[in-house]
Amino acid sequence: MRLLLVEDDSMIGESVRQGLRQDGFTVDWVRDGRAAELALANEVYDLLLLDLGLPKKEGLEVLNTLRQKGNTIPVVILTARDAVADRVKGLDAGADDYLVKPFDLDELAARIRALLRRRSGRAEPVIQVGALTLNPASREVTLKGEPVSLSAREFALLAAFLDRPGAVLSREQLEEKLYGWDQEVGSNTVEVYIHALRKKLGQDLIKNVRGVGYMVPKPS
Ligand code: CA
Repeated sequence: MRLLLVEDDSMIGESVRQGLRQDGFTVDWVRDGRAAELALANEVYDLLLLDLGLPKKEGLEVLNTLRQKGNTIPVVILTARDAVADRVKGLDAGADDYLVKPFDLDELAARIRALLRRRSGRAEPVIQVGALTLNPASREVTLKGEPVSLSAREFALLAAFLDRPGAVLSREQLEEKLYGWDQEVGSNTVEVYIHALRKKLGQDLIKNVRGVGYMVPKPS
């Protein structure tokens, strides 16, 4: 899952980016409201983490504009402003959740997972597709009840497929899920990870859709 973090405080930004990457998220980080709008216009994100007090354009303005344009991306406000009025304003402007600084990174990650599963129309925390289960919180995968050991990238790729079974994902979409701006994409990497996943989880789990991409079919 790819997140956009908008935060002008270097220390908070760095620690949030580090922490969420360790939790398996791909994170792009910008430091002002205008850069946030540019990033949102040019990339596809699964969720937005938005500070309110920002240079160039306030977070609340960014959020208002985003919702006016019909963008439905889940938004978590990260703010030092603990006044109730600010939280109410943020939620009423279209935010889905908020955290008051200083916050706990584990709590932030858990709230992100909760929003992402709601966005995907799920209430249960473990994703199950056929004989396969994936737990986004514990990062455990099982096949027919047996644990399967995956690398961080293999896990991220599988999570992208299982989040929307039956949806075809292009190689570019998969690369975007796996790599942030500051991370080099090697050639053939998606193919390499798909090969590894098939080896561990069965050859017919991930289907090639010729000329379009890949998918994990919905179990019939
Ligand atoms: Ca700020």
